[in-house]
Amino acid sequence: MKKTLLTSAFALLYSTGVFAQDFDKVEITTIKVTDDIYMMMGAGGNLGLSIGEDGVFLIDDQYAPLTTKILAAIEKLSTDDIHFLFNTHYHGDHTGGNENLGDKGINIIAHDNVYTRLDDGKMKTGMPIITFNDKLTFHMNGIEIKTEHYHSAHTDGDSVVYFKGKNVIHMGDIVFNEAYPYVDVPGGGSFKGVLAAVKDTLGRIDDETQVIPGHGPLTNKAGLQIYYDVLMDIQNILTPIAKQGLSLEAAKKLKPLNKYDDDYGQGFMDPDTFISIVYMDIFDNLDK
Ligand SMILES: [Zn+2]
Repeated sequence: MKKTLLTSAFALLYSTGVFAQDFDKVEITTIKVTDDIYMMMGAGGNLGLSIGEDGVFLIDDQYAPLTTKILAAIEKLSTDDIHFLFNTHYHGDHTGGNENLGDKGINIIAHDNVYTRLDDGKMKTGMPIITFNDKLTFHMNGIEIKTEHYHSAHTDGDSVVYFKGKNVIHMGDIVFNEAYPYVDVPGGGSFKGVLAAVKDTLGRIDDETQVIPGHGPLTNKAGLQIYYDVLMDIQNILTPIAKQGLSLEAAKKLKPLNKYDDDYGQGFMDPDTFISIVYMDIFDNLDK
């Protein structure tokens, strides 16, 4: 019960952007990943873009107050229309600009469960107009943009996006690069699912692949492998403690993740919140 309250409250704060900075001070930084593929950082989730002869394909849109700045940054790369906005999942730091962009007639696409979670009856123009349940491929700008759903990872509606032919992948919030990840358990996510999604991705990419994380700096296969190894180690540390039946408070007293807290607990997840969510998720799913 305690865990549910904690994580629900947290998810609410997170998705409404209460943790966001003063948006006036946010600057949008554009990083060229490779020819015609870009990453943008501002406040909230990292954006991904394909530009080219067919127009702009945009992944995620951060917070509503940043839309004008994001559009200005995109315009420096391309004056073509944004044809598609793809939401990697439902969180407000990735979909906050949906209504602004939907108002402009931009087609919004996401997994079925993103639609369900965004559907509060209030959003009129920011809802996805195309949803899918497994995989979807866009053929534009001379490449295939392949999106694929991973069930129950960061949320129950996560997608990763491969820019095929460019050897770039956007992982959404399955990857918080160089930081503890947030797992939205009330939103259908699971720590086990994050591990499975990262492992599956590692098997599909090569040493040259560039990896855009949902949060944190641009990385590659080696960086993703480190992220996976750390999360796997955390699972291996916490599982035997959970099997002993220790309460969350008793588990915390052991400081089992001490060796990672300094390096990984400075991002979106502080060490206490991280272990609270992940320990209880492992604890509740020991037999599954
Ligand atoms: Zn998220």
